[in-house]
Order: sequence, then C-alpha cells, then structure tokens
Amino acid sequence: MPSKPIPEPTRETQPYWDGCKKHELRVQKCRACGHYQLYPRIYCTACMSEEVDWVTASGRGTVLSFTTVHRPVTKAFAEEVPYVVALITLDEGPQMMSNIVGCPPGQVQIGKTVEVTFEDWTEEISVPKFRLVE
Ligand SMILES: [Zn+2]
Repeated sequence: MPSKPIPEPTRETQPYWDGCKKHELRVQKCRACGHYQLYPRIYCTACMSEEVDWVTASGRGTVLSFTTVHRPVTKAFAEEVPYVVALITLDEGPQMMSNIVGCPPGQVQIGKTVEVTFEDWTEEISVPKFRLVE
C-alpha cells in the first residue's frame, strides 16, 4: 500500500507548518498595508512591502467551491473515498484548498461556514482540514 505524500516544509513554509503542528492556522499579514496572504511569499502581493509577518488566522472560512472525489488518485487514498476537496475563502481573505471532513459529502454546499481542524500525520506534520460549522 503506497503511503500518502507527506508535505515537506521549505524555508518559506516552515512557519506555516510550525503553526499546523501546534494546531494553529497561520497566514502572512503585511505590516505596511494589512493585507493577508497565503501561500507565503517574501513580499506583500498587495503593496510589494517586504515586511510580512506570520499571524494566527481565525481558522474560519467559507466554502467557495468544492468537488467530491469518488475515484482515488492513488491507492493511498482508496479508503477515504468519497471525500470532498474544497476551495475555502478564509475570513482573513486568502483562499486555500483543503478537505472538508466530518460529514457526508452531500452536506457540503457553497457558501457554508467551515472551521479548521488538524490531522496529525507524523510527529512534525499536521495537516489542516475543515469541518462544517453548524
Ligand atoms: Zn502590503
């Protein structure tokens, strides 16, 4: 049975994964203009300032779009189908792709509120997922 691909932090993404390990969803915030962004960059995509800090996000967001996967990409995901892959707009503004877990796929709808939850995959890597907020 092949194993799931484990994310490999880079110098730029290490603060993000350090947050995940503590079950905190982190995004970058520009010190100059207040813009939030994810994935991480060395500058602000709104004003080009290089003064970007890591902050802990609320962990809440909204389903922008989603699809239900019925056929696993690899055997490593065979026991998970059907599962939902969703594009989520965080309350802070950035969008991220993740899974929506903890409910039947049929309950997921565009516009629903979600909150982050974490799956501990290894000692170092916890992966952010989302669940519906009732
Ligand atoms: Zn900025």
